[in-house]
Amino acid sequence: MTRVLVVEDDPQLAKALVINLQARQYGVDAAPDGATALRLAAAGPPDVVMLDLGLPDMDGVDVIKALRGWTRVPVLVLSARRASDEKVAALDAGADDYITKPFSMEELLARLRAAVRRTEDMPLAPETTLVETDGFTIDLLAKKVRRAGHDVRLTPTEWHLLEILVTNPGRLVTQKHLLQEVWGVSVSNKTNYLRVYMAQLRRKLEADPSHPRYLITEPGMGYRFER
Ligand code: CA
Repeated sequence: MTRVLVVEDDPQLAKALVINLQARQYGVDAAPDGATALRLAAAGPPDVVMLDLGLPDMDGVDVIKALRGWTRVPVLVLSARRASDEKVAALDAGADDYITKPFSMEELLARLRAAVRRTEDMPLAPETTLVETDGFTIDLLAKKVRRAGHDVRLTPTEWHLLEILVTNPGRLVTQKHLLQEVWGVSVSNKTNYLRVYMAQLRRKLEADPSHPRYLITEPGMGYRFER
């Protein structure tokens, strides 16, 4: 049984979520505030966390940061906040996805299923070191890329970026995460580095680099590899 921790201080919404999730055979714990959420998560680690950002005792972003200190459990943010900075802050803190209130229960359940699927896909099993697309093939073990029967030469930086994206297929990887992983924290404001290297990767891998099929930009947020 997939266990969901619902963190929501609006009692009506919390109740609706619990009823709908239980009706679909999820195991559900509910927390009305951040402190209870962290206590419940530590007592019995959930498979997914659904988290409201506006909680009475602490900011939802701080709940994400606290969780990320010890777990990679998927966090789906339920946000009434439309400002994209809030969403970016939540994603940078380690949220996996967000949905803006008001949302339909069907959409929420679809996002939940996707979040669960992504954890089942990861980490990449050692035998699945080949990432194949219609356009190119990446051998993660040999660190080689082949396109149209030829090896594609990548710089170490290009390789590092590509490796992070393809090992998170279908998933938004934030600019901040990529900058930290590839260049270190000291240049975390240098998003122009990313643009330059992503453009190079697209020239080497995409049939039409100005309309990428595989290396997708999420404006203002980051990048996504679509197989
Ligand atoms: Ca709230």
